[in-house]
Amino acid sequence: MGLFYTLFLLLLLVLLARWIKSKEAEWIGSYGEYKVRKAIKKIESTLSGKYNAFHNLYIPKQDGSTSQIDHIILSDQGLFVIETKNYSSWIFGDETSKYWTQVIYKRKEKFLNPILQNKGHIKALRGWLGEEFAHIPIHSVVVFLPRAKFKSNAHFAHAYVVYPKQLKQVLEQHQTKVIDRETKQRLAQKLETVLVKDKTQEKEMKKRHIQAVRTKQKQTEQHIQQNRCPKCGGVLIVRKGKYGTFKGCNNYPKCKFTKSIG
Ligand SMILES: [Zn+2]
Repeated sequence: MGLFYTLFLLLLLVLLARWIKSKEAEWIGSYGEYKVRKAIKKIESTLSGKYNAFHNLYIPKQDGSTSQIDHIILSDQGLFVIETKNYSSWIFGDETSKYWTQVIYKRKEKFLNPILQNKGHIKALRGWLGEEFAHIPIHSVVVFLPRAKFKSNAHFAHAYVVYPKQLKQVLEQHQTKVIDRETKQRLAQKLETVLVKDKTQEKEMKKRHIQAVRTKQKQTEQHIQQNRCPKCGGVLIVRKGKYGTFKGCNNYPKCKFTKSIG
């Protein structure tokens, strides 16, 4: 009886540990979003009526996929699109490189440059907002939780990279009123339509998003197989380069599409 009981308990512990490990990244990510949401809510309440925040939005893109945005703040000064990152490490990065680096002790890990990531979100948002709101300024903000230490002295021309407590300063740097009340109302109504309010809705959105991305990948692969350029519709030609054989577009240099084939 004693042995059986011990084994059973051990098994339970192993399963629990596995489950925690599988959920870890999700929890850390959500916790980051939660902390930033709290900081935004504080700003909203202390400067009542000035800022209007929207959390967790799924912006539809033309190719059928969606772009997920953590937070958008609507104000008389335009829209602030916020990307949250919850890392506990040293962060190195500049505005234009594709990847940034996080250093945990001696281990280095690459992650997608959040400024470029947010640029993608803003592009999707612009496309979805359309002509009607084309004149509205959109500001890009990347927020790191205080656990992260940002180690770069790089100057960012097109985005703010800040900690939650600096968010208010970022907002207050913009004082010129550029949106009238009526436009602001219409914007708020439009943003309301892409808010994800509960878990079920979020799951459904994520599923649709993954499906759309897969379909697009398949299409791209098919095009390449048929020697059609997936970017511009040109003809792909097999070429030999320094790093091996690849298929390149016949519209080069106008189109820079290439695909390595070994
Ligand atoms: Zn092409």
